[in-house]
Amino acid sequence: MKPPRKLHIKSYGCQMNVYDAQRMADTLAADGFVETASADDADLVILNTCHIREKASEKVYSELGRLRLAKTEAFRAGRDMRIAVAGCVAQAEGEEIIRRAPVVDVVVGPQSYHHLPELLARAKREGRAIETEFPAEDKFASLPQPKPDTIRTRGVSAYITVQEGCDKFCTFCVVPYTRGAEVSRPVAKIVDDAKRLADNGVRELTLIGQNVNAYHGDGPDGRGWTLGKLLLQLAEIPGIARLRYSTSHPRDVESSLIEAHRDLPALMPLVHLPAQSGSDRILAAMNRRHTVRDYLSVIDRFRKARHNIAFSSDFIVGFPGEREEDFSATLALVSQIGYASAYSFKYSPRPGTPAAEMQETVSAIDMDERLERLQALIDSQQSAFNKAAIGTTVDVLFERAGRNEGQMVGRTAYLQPAHVIAPTDIVGRILPVKVASLERYSLLGELAAASPPGPAASFQISIGA
Ligand code: SAM
Ligand code: SF4
Repeated sequence: MKPPRKLHIKSYGCQMNVYDAQRMADTLAADGFVETASADDADLVILNTCHIREKASEKVYSELGRLRLAKTEAFRAGRDMRIAVAGCVAQAEGEEIIRRAPVVDVVVGPQSYHHLPELLARAKREGRAIETEFPAEDKFASLPQPKPDTIRTRGVSAYITVQEGCDKFCTFCVVPYTRGAEVSRPVAKIVDDAKRLADNGVRELTLIGQNVNAYHGDGPDGRGWTLGKLLLQLAEIPGIARLRYSTSHPRDVESSLIEAHRDLPALMPLVHLPAQSGSDRILAAMNRRHTVRDYLSVIDRFRKARHNIAFSSDFIVGFPGEREEDFSATLALVSQIGYASAYSFKYSPRPGTPAAEMQETVSAIDMDERLERLQALIDSQQSAFNKAAIGTTVDVLFERAGRNEGQMVGRTAYLQPAHVIAPTDIVGRILPVKVASLERYSLLGELAAASPPGPAASFQISIGA
């Protein structure tokens, strides 16, 4: 029997890349590859890349410089190391990657991961293999499912891609070009995946998609199902105690999603709803298709449905044409909402997007200064939100052992990391934790009471954001 070949995948960027990396590992496991933690001793290294901002995509080339040396070392030691570039940089740059970094053997776009074994064989025969087409067949139907052991080692919280691609065409964003048009997976396939995960110890599912609440997959009744309806179905699966979804577009929040938040205790009360800007003028230039008022009214609908709901968001500062008064409007929106957390980015022009052609750019100094002010405001909100948990009892889903002896780590309903001293067999259980203090963004506390094993205890937290 041939010894297994070693595979190392390094993922950058979003949750979908984490999910895709697992699907690539599952595909290659069927071909005799086992995962290794180090690139240096791998037979195949895959860089699963992100193209969303310039900094993210440039990281690939510095990593390829390092891998060139590792490949030379491997060659000297009589080993054949192969290097593949996957993800959105692969899709956007294709052949250009091999021109800039001849060390690369395979370039594969996100729609072709099920072709990886054959691309590796082609690279061996022909020296190189590139596939960045959007193939006609459904990659999800061709990607193998993880084995039970693999699911168990990946932990109690798992992602499922339910929707991929985007038709929104925000003027700053590369996603519609790198991930293609919006496609939703059928309900039955998602339910099958969820059941397999639950049967092997997964307690929390996060449904992911670039525009996840545009989900409209075929239901078993032959109709298009909404995300809200899908969530209701998944909540029925024994063992699934927590449901989340990401990332939503404010324009696609329809009533069944709001009702799901009202009716499903398993649907966690944290909604990631990117706003991008608090200025209607900038939102229009971004082609976001919603105004500040629309955004606020969506927030209001969520809050009316679930009193303890909290929000996170994404913001871009320094979009072309953004003046001080536009930026002040962003600060005002953030102040009005009070986020549990939020990401903020400096605008980065992406080749091929309409905004990259816009002339009225914002200076680097102004961008830095605005980012700093926005991040200070967001940080203060996040701290206030976390501080409000001190002294309360919150339900925590325990995921793994912590770094310190005897310490176990889990997450609250709001994704705050929580640390307690407890036995290791609490992994996979949702237990009440009395929060005593904060260490940076983590809650420290102790188990509040012994709870019987099994599905989630009901969760309760009062928030003060
Ligand atoms: N689909 C989501 C949405 O509608 O907001 C998010 C997609 S994107 C992967 C994640 C975040 O990256 C965006 O919400 C946006 O804030 C940021 N982003 C996207 N393109 C960017 C660019 N060109 N420059 C800076 N930030 C960008
Ligand atoms: Fe990009 Fe999100 Fe806009 Fe789609 S909705 S174009 S993924 S920012």
